[in-house]
Amino acid sequence: MTVYSFGSGPTVLPPEVKESICAGINPDGGGTPSVLEMTFTGAAYADIQAEAESRLRSLLSIPETHRVLFLQGGASAHFALVAMNLLGPRDAAGYIDSGLWARRAIAEAAHWGEIRVVGRTCSQGRLPPQESWRISPDLVYLHVTTNETAEGKQFRRLPETGAVPLVADMSGDLLSEPLDVGRFGLIYASAQKNLGVAGLTIVIVRTDLLGRANPLTPAPFDYTKQSAANSRVNTPPTAAVHIANCMLGWLLAQGGLSAMATRNQRKADRLYATIERSGFYRSPVAADDRSRVNVRFHFPDPLLDAVFFEQAEAAGLLHLKGHPNVGGVRANLYNAVPEAAVDALIVFMDRFERQWG
Ligand SMILES: *Cc1c(COP(=O)(O)O)cnc(C)c1O
Repeated sequence: MTVYSFGSGPTVLPPEVKESICAGINPDGGGTPSVLEMTFTGAAYADIQAEAESRLRSLLSIPETHRVLFLQGGASAHFALVAMNLLGPRDAAGYIDSGLWARRAIAEAAHWGEIRVVGRTCSQGRLPPQESWRISPDLVYLHVTTNETAEGKQFRRLPETGAVPLVADMSGDLLSEPLDVGRFGLIYASAQKNLGVAGLTIVIVRTDLLGRANPLTPAPFDYTKQSAANSRVNTPPTAAVHIANCMLGWLLAQGGLSAMATRNQRKADRLYATIERSGFYRSPVAADDRSRVNVRFHFPDPLLDAVFFEQAEAAGLLHLKGHPNVGGVRANLYNAVPEAAVDALIVFMDRFERQWG
């Protein structure tokens, strides 16, 4: 039986990527130092990080105005670090409260300066409509969570922020489709959703936003110092960078981000179409706000949740449980989840509906 995982993260990895990860770990059957054993100040590691950066730049067409940093901490640490790096004591930053992850970002940033919530979601199944946002020009940045991974919501259109720099937590959807990086002041993302394993956080920052860090910022998390030191103020997560490099190579070989976007769109469309035509499964998210990355659905009777998970697991379909805050079913369709996984899930859903619908 083929087993498919739809977990929320760390993501599954494509078999070819696992092979190239292993090749780096065991280069010639054990003789020479592997990527795990390289000194981080040496040329061999520098080459791996430079290759990862150049692949990322090429996939996302990152302009020269932006630096790429390879850091630790995870997006949850960068909720505070973004504010520590960008928000001065007399500054105010705008945040869009779009859901669970946005609220965590707001709570962490609020320790470091004035945070104004300038757009708020009115219900769990909707994003705050962009027409209602109040973006005043004195904000030093506007923070959005482009994909709310727990509730399965995604902004399909980037906001117009005028001269206010746009800052985005893109942990859920970075590299899932082409992106106009020039529109952003700063992007940050944990790697374990679309870019490999946990331990690495990618920060893409426009150079004119550097040089403002709060003096209390620890050096390994000071974007300015890390930018000057090529992300090597201290030991970077070298193994996670190697794995991200393998993943980025795979994304290029797949045809880049427009090919990924086509495939990701197809995966999500087919799953939402199955939900729509059934009359049994229900999507709790408004049609315009549905995420392509995390597809959620509910049953008429929540008691069926447990039955569904048990039968799905027996059919080789793993990790479909929704985020504990929202319940129901959630299929996470990160880049590495193959279309065959979605095919298998749809076959199973049709069968489950015939049995229980
Ligand atoms: C997963 C996720 C996070 C948390 O990432 P960690 O690496 O666990 O800190 C933050 N924001 C979003 C949108 C996510 O999907």
